[in-house]
Amino acid sequence: MITPFIPFARRDYSEAEFSEVADVIRSGWLTTGPRAAQFERDFAQYVQADFALAVNSCTAGLHLALVALGIGPGDEVITTPLTFCATVNVILQVGATPVLADIGPDLNIDPAAIRRAITSRTKALIPVHLGGLPCNMQEIWKIADQYGLKVIEDAAHAAGSLIAGVPVGGGRSDAVAFSFYATKNLSTGEGGMVTMRDAELERRMRSLCLHGISRDAWNRYTEKGNWYYEVVECGFKYNMSDIMAALGLIQLRKLEQMTGLRIEIARRYNEAFGDMREIQLPPDRDGDRHCYHLYILRLNLEQLGIDRARFIDEMRNRGIGCSVHFIPIPLHPYYQTKLDPRTDTPCEKPMRDPCASALSEYPRLVSLPLYSNMTDDEVGRVIDAVREIVAEFRVHSPVAVCELA
Ligand SMILES: *Cc1c(COP(=O)(O)O)cnc(C)c1O
Repeated sequence: MITPFIPFARRDYSEAEFSEVADVIRSGWLTTGPRAAQFERDFAQYVQADFALAVNSCTAGLHLALVALGIGPGDEVITTPLTFCATVNVILQVGATPVLADIGPDLNIDPAAIRRAITSRTKALIPVHLGGLPCNMQEIWKIADQYGLKVIEDAAHAAGSLIAGVPVGGGRSDAVAFSFYATKNLSTGEGGMVTMRDAELERRMRSLCLHGISRDAWNRYTEKGNWYYEVVECGFKYNMSDIMAALGLIQLRKLEQMTGLRIEIARRYNEAFGDMREIQLPPDRDGDRHCYHLYILRLNLEQLGIDRARFIDEMRNRGIGCSVHFIPIPLHPYYQTKLDPRTDTPCEKPMRDPCASALSEYPRLVSLPLYSNMTDDEVGRVIDAVREIVAEFRVHSPVAVCELA
């Protein structure tokens, strides 16, 4: 019997998504319009935020937030080494200096490392909720208050996560950016959302999101619209189309249910792997809700006897796709040259923190498939494969060897 491959990620779409997209196409209104506006209202309500701005990626949202908050050359922005390149690229793109602060035992940025990284030039913090486990935001907000820093959350993994009962996006940060990229737990193919608390920031970001055009730009082709508009600043082209928004509206309605299914699969994995000293379960925190966008195992390499690459190969041989989140920022060649991409001049060395924890955790990290429409059978196959590989390759302890001898 041929066993079908279990991919690392799979979007959870059904008839509702298909027919909504068809309706948008039939309606004739493809770009930012009524559906994007509705998606913004519904998303803001879901995360309990004052404002939400629909954008075409999380990267765009992070970039807009930095520009609108006035972060630029000479400023330092502290973020984590264990993230996707987008988090660091946007800091470089506004001409600021990324400063990495190492991770803690939960794989998220360590508030103590943030304190050590702060200088008189520090202007903002970009914590990343890795895999959907919220950072220790109480502590991060305290640091921000103490030093007068802006906080922009990279919540690319955290739609559906809660911090002390409040959804990520509804907390005290200046801006929170979500990703709806194809593989994310709420997916519109490409897309993102930024939530905010400040009306002036929202106005500024909305203008920058569409070329810096003054007002009602996307109304100008309708019956009520006016041909006249003014460009008041040099903005970007970051708006979300109504096709993406239609998918987002349906996905958002299913988010609580999809998150519940993810948490249940994570619970099954934890139960199945909890007794194996060759692997370490993903971190969690009491009082917060981990949405399990990712299920990140850590291999105890001394007990396991094979490296991470071999583990992933063995999983693939059993028809299961895995991934790694993330290759730490300092390991990519570009960040080793530390160039300011706008001027090609060397910027301040961003890696004052050697990021020892991120570098030592990296070889142990493996993300297993976990998504809301995984079947019981698929979950069972992942569990069996991991247990089988561990049983096959585990290093037998000296005690056991003595007993044999
Ligand atoms: C996916 C991702 C992003 C970028 O999201 P896009 O919507 O593709 O721009 C940013 N940060 C992290 C941590 C991500 O995983």
